[in-house]
Amino acid sequence: MASVRFEGISKVYQKNILAVAKFNLEVEDGELLVLVGPSGCGKSTTLRLLAGLEEPTTGELFINDHPIIDKKPQDRDIAMVFQNYALYPHMTVFDNMAFSLRMKKMPKELITTNVQETAEILGISDYLNRKPRELSGGQRQRVAVGRAIVRHPSVFLFDEPLSNLDAKLRVQMRNELSRLHTRLKATMIYVTHDQAEAMTLGDRIVVLKDAYIQQIASPLDLYDFPENSFVAGFIGSPAMNFLPVSLENSVLRSGDILIQASIYSEVPDGKYTFGIRPEDIYPDADAPLEGRVEVLETLGNENIIYMKFAGRQFTVRCGPQVQIAPGEPLRFSIDISRSHLFDPDGIRVKVDA
Ligand code: ADP
Repeated sequence: MASVRFEGISKVYQKNILAVAKFNLEVEDGELLVLVGPSGCGKSTTLRLLAGLEEPTTGELFINDHPIIDKKPQDRDIAMVFQNYALYPHMTVFDNMAFSLRMKKMPKELITTNVQETAEILGISDYLNRKPRELSGGQRQRVAVGRAIVRHPSVFLFDEPLSNLDAKLRVQMRNELSRLHTRLKATMIYVTHDQAEAMTLGDRIVVLKDAYIQQIASPLDLYDFPENSFVAGFIGSPAMNFLPVSLENSVLRSGDILIQASIYSEVPDGKYTFGIRPEDIYPDADAPLEGRVEVLETLGNENIIYMKFAGRQFTVRCGPQVQIAPGEPLRFSIDISRSHLFDPDGIRVKVDA
């Protein structure tokens, strides 16, 4: 297995399109690292640079401390799994999986054992004689993963591999990939635009925006300690609520509304953006803050309330017992210890607990 290192990697496409900017990252041996961010932020390009399908404009790439920039894609010992599966339609599942091993001139018996063992792991042993069109989306994706596994590569790259699957199957395959990672102990880099996929799969997550890394952290650290308002708003669903506030003599206000301030007594006076997650707002008939309910979503296990507060849309996540109709006022309190302040540049203000 292998460690991977990006050193100052940038990629500028024609017409000065900056796709990846000053990318520095060390992926540990056996780690499952997720790259996440909105469409166009440079995730796929980063993977393609590592796979050798694109050339970087600047920077160095290493696998196990060996530079690989001058190596051809087929010599990098990397296997890539794509969203569209990229299976050969005229070949059986067995032949699809055996293809790269035949190219490597592996002995026939060894190929058979290898493919059969991998098919066993992925639960596709019964389909080895079928063509891809005779398989469901989930089965095709397993074949695409199997084709990567048989090669025993140093590094696995996944480019949005579950995007073509329906929601339920996506969750199931996500689970299977997690188990596969535990079993193979392989180094994996996984690209997705879906923050829930990133949170559930990643040992660590890299959040990207407009070609730049915003933060590298474990899922829980990203959630609890976002570096900036972009990460805070991107990670978590429903998303964090934001409100422009002013802090004066450690009193926090939004316009005329007094929010509270105690934990921000160390923070300099000024204008900030206040951030609070939907689950840190509590409906409470005796509380001083009041919003007006616009929409109530009852999901069975929980309710999501969309309300207007201080001229903003605010989302509240609460138990199914909270029954309230659109148009009604909702009094609530905020767990201020779970709130964040972001400075005018969007950087989170660090507060000592
Ligand atoms: P993501 O995978 O996060 O959606 P990409 O890495 O595909 O983002 O793209 C990053 C940026 O580079 C986007 O602005 C995209 O339009 C641009 N881009 C990607 N591939 C090419 C290409 N071959 N030529 C020119 N621009 C490209």
